[in-house]
Amino acid sequence: MTRASRGPRAQEPGAGLVRRARDGDVRALGRLVSLVENGAPELRPVMRELAPLTGQARVLGLTGAPGVGKSTVTGALVAAYRERGLRVAVLAVDPTSPFTGGALLGDRIRMQQHATDRGVFIRSMASRGHLGGLAGAAPQALRVLDAAGFELILVETVGVGQDEVEIASLADSTLVIVAPGLGDAIQAAKAGILEIADVFVVNKSDKPGAQETVRDLRGMIAMGQYGAGDWKPPIVSTVASAGEGIAELAAKLDRHAAWLGASGQGERRRLARARGEITVLALAQLRQRMGGLPGDSPIDELAGRVAAGELDPYSAADELIAGAG
Ligand code: GDP
Repeated sequence: MTRASRGPRAQEPGAGLVRRARDGDVRALGRLVSLVENGAPELRPVMRELAPLTGQARVLGLTGAPGVGKSTVTGALVAAYRERGLRVAVLAVDPTSPFTGGALLGDRIRMQQHATDRGVFIRSMASRGHLGGLAGAAPQALRVLDAAGFELILVETVGVGQDEVEIASLADSTLVIVAPGLGDAIQAAKAGILEIADVFVVNKSDKPGAQETVRDLRGMIAMGQYGAGDWKPPIVSTVASAGEGIAELAAKLDRHAAWLGASGQGERRRLARARGEITVLALAQLRQRMGGLPGDSPIDELAGRVAAGELDPYSAADELIAGAG
C-alpha cells in the first residue's frame, strides 16, 4: 500500500468504519471493537460519530461460575431471539485474560449453530485493557454494537469477584446462572449475587440436586426485602443443552423489560450507566496526565514542593485536578 492510498484513512481513522459496521460489515465491526479494546486514540472521533446512533439496544448480562452453562444458555437465547427476527450480538468478557480475541466462550458458540448467521455477531474481549477493566471497555464496546444496529446484546462474563457486580451496572437485565453441584446458591448469596440478579437461572436441571438449588434460591429470595412494585427475581429452571426452559426464560426477561419501562428503573439504570462511563473515563484521563514520564509530569513539580514543605498535599491535589481540567 502506498502512502497516498493510506492518506484519507490517516486523516479520519474511524471514518467509514461506522457506516460499514451498520451495513453489516463484520470486519469493520470487529475493528471498531478492537479500537475499544486497545483504547486507541481513533476512538474519540468514532465515539462522537456513534453517540447519536446509540440507545436502541437491549442489554442482557449473564454471569455465573465456570461450567454452569453460560455459553450454552447464551447460545440458546441467541437462537430464541433470532426466531423473533432480532439482530443479536454477544460480547464475552474474559476478566482473567489480558489477551484479546480469546478462545473463550464466544468462540465456542461461534463454532456452533450461529456460525453462518449474519444476524449474529460474537466477540470475546479481554477486560484488563487500557480503560481499566470491564467497567472501562465493555460499555464502549456495547455502544459500538448498539450503534451498529444490534437490537439485543448479550454480555457474558465469568462470575469472579468484581466483574459479576460490574456486569449488573452494564445490563438492563442481569441473569445469574447457577447449576446444581457447582457452588451452592447460598455461596452465591454471599458474593452479593442476590442484589444483582434480575432473573435466576438454574441450569442443568436434568442433574441431581436441581430442585434443592431452586429451593435454596427461593429461601434466599424470601428473606429479601421487597416493597410493593419492586421486582422480585424469578427463578427459571433450564436444560440449556436441550433448549428446555429457554422460552420461559425469554418470557421472564420480557416481563422484566416491561417492568423496567413501567417503573422508570430502566431509565435510571441507563443514567447510572452513563454516569459510570463518564467517571471511568475521567479518572483514566486524570491518571494518565499524572503518570507522565518522571520529571515530565505535572505531579513531579507538585511532589517537589510537597516534599520540601512548601505546599500541603491537599492543595497539591487541587492544583493537579484544576490543571488537568
Ligand atoms: P460455561 O463455562 O458456564 O460457559 O459453561 P458451558 O456452556 O461451556 O457448559 C459447560 C458444560 O455443561 C458443557 O459441556 C455443556 O454442554 C454442559 N451443559 C450446558 N447446559 C447443560 C444442561 O442443561 N444440562 C447438562 N447436563 N449439561 C449442560
